[in-house]
Amino acid sequence: MSAGRWFCWGEKGFLAIYEKLKATACPHCKAIGLLVRHGFLRGYDESSPQEKTVRARRIFCSNRNNRKGCGRTFSVWLADKIRRLSLSTRCLWTFLQSVVAGGMVAAIRHVDCHLSDRQMQRIWKRFDLGQSQIRTALWQQCEPPELPAKSAHSPAAEVLAHLQAAFPKSDCPIAAFQHALRTFFV
Ligand SMILES: [Zn+2]
Repeated sequence: MSAGRWFCWGEKGFLAIYEKLKATACPHCKAIGLLVRHGFLRGYDESSPQEKTVRARRIFCSNRNNRKGCGRTFSVWLADKIRRLSLSTRCLWTFLQSVVAGGMVAAIRHVDCHLSDRQMQRIWKRFDLGQSQIRTALWQQCEPPELPAKSAHSPAAEVLAHLQAAFPKSDCPIAAFQHALRTFFV
């Protein structure tokens, strides 16, 4: 995970960023006043498996027409989208919780989405491999909660409990994670 990604909440979030674009520094070269809109990143998720929807918008530091920008681009992601995954953060959250609660087979049955079993297993693997980075990022937000000692907890259960403790008011802690910590969850 690389820090300092840009995330926003919905269309309103994009508009708020666009309104301030002329006063915003380029994240690459730090020049102010040269950022312009530069199209979209589109993709699928479970809400729209047949038709691509906007996942992120591109912004360009303009070096055209003798402007002094660096010519590089960056993306502003919707906080509830996940890079390279055709699944919303909300669906991923439900899935991860289900695996921790009842195992992979039950979770795949429980989460109603268009992905195959094999794809779901791959998503779990991706989360599993990213756990230590997720934990490190969460420490910026709060300490991990104490879990009841009587039962053994998997590391994954601890990560999810930590995530929930870090964003207790959010109905999707994964989206809140991406927005607050400016980094991709997986
Ligand atoms: Zn630049």
